[in-house]
Amino acid sequence: MTLSEFDLISRFFHRCGTARDDVALGVGDDAALVRVPAGMELALTLDTLVQGVHFLAGSDPRSLGHKALAVNLSDLAAMGAEPAWATLALTLPESDSTWLEAFSDGFCRLARESGVQLVGGDTTRGPLVLSVEAKGLVPVGQALRRVGARSGDLIFVSGLLGDAGLALHALRDGLEVDDLAYLRGRLERPQPRLKLGQSLRGLASAAIDISDGLVADLGHILDSSRVGAVVELERLPCSEPVSAYLARNGDWSLPLAAGDDYELCFTLPPGHLAALERLAENLSCRITCIGEITREPGLRLRTADGGDYRPRRWGYEHFTQNPRNGS
Ligand code: ADP
Ligand code: MG
Repeated sequence: MTLSEFDLISRFFHRCGTARDDVALGVGDDAALVRVPAGMELALTLDTLVQGVHFLAGSDPRSLGHKALAVNLSDLAAMGAEPAWATLALTLPESDSTWLEAFSDGFCRLARESGVQLVGGDTTRGPLVLSVEAKGLVPVGQALRRVGARSGDLIFVSGLLGDAGLALHALRDGLEVDDLAYLRGRLERPQPRLKLGQSLRGLASAAIDISDGLVADLGHILDSSRVGAVVELERLPCSEPVSAYLARNGDWSLPLAAGDDYELCFTLPPGHLAALERLAENLSCRITCIGEITREPGLRLRTADGGDYRPRRWGYEHFTQNPRNGS
């Protein structure tokens, strides 16, 4: 069924997510009004998903709704911020109510689970593009940043790396893999590491979320902090299907450069290790030490026999590569 722009907004996006009492005015006026508590800073981030670049044509709309918000919440997690509000710019080829119902269900469910209220947006006709701005709160001066890593700090990642990359390989190129259902879940339904990010305030010296691949994103911490790093390939946390792929091909690009992991990478002064271990017991995701920050600039990837590994590609970059989901 085709809906008008205003029917569509009121039907699918009017009461979406958590009803927050710091929202003075939500969807329906020319702008939303929200209250930022004293002592808090506003963390703002925006990410766009474009069909054919970030997802395949025909992707499940419920998963797209989830992912459009999740990739933004992952940025807030990396800053140690608590999510609060979101706005959504939807560009749609048509106003298909079945598609919209599933999309808004995926989006609003994650919003509810994360304490986020959708407070506004924009709806236009055109090729399918999903843009979300997420807004979060963080105590003044306590946000985690890319700058701050020091020589001797330990490098950690959350969760497992390479699953989304392997799923894409399977879905796009027909590669045979073990456990496609699990891998697909990791590609289409990333879980932003919000609790971990917030718990790392005051502990981590720097943090980033891994959207373009570990090498590229850790590289941003190294550049911003003006340091280098050694990462031990054998320590990279990988699921069984990714480990099986590695064993067959000897190609580390999945955990290093495929991207779409939405895990956190952070650095930790060794004096905070005991506190991190205590914290890890109460978290629902695993955290793994993969290496160390060095004074010498550059990233060294060390193999099990102590040699240096040279990756075939260093990470996803929009203007020097073909679309990763190109269709
Ligand atoms: P304006 O023309 O003043 O920008 P719109 O007609 O675009 O307002 O939007 C009307 C109201 O609906 C606004 O409050 C806007 O924030 C909200 N809105 C529009 N599209 C969306 C959407 N996709 N999701 C949530 N809110 C939306
Ligand atoms: Mg207006």
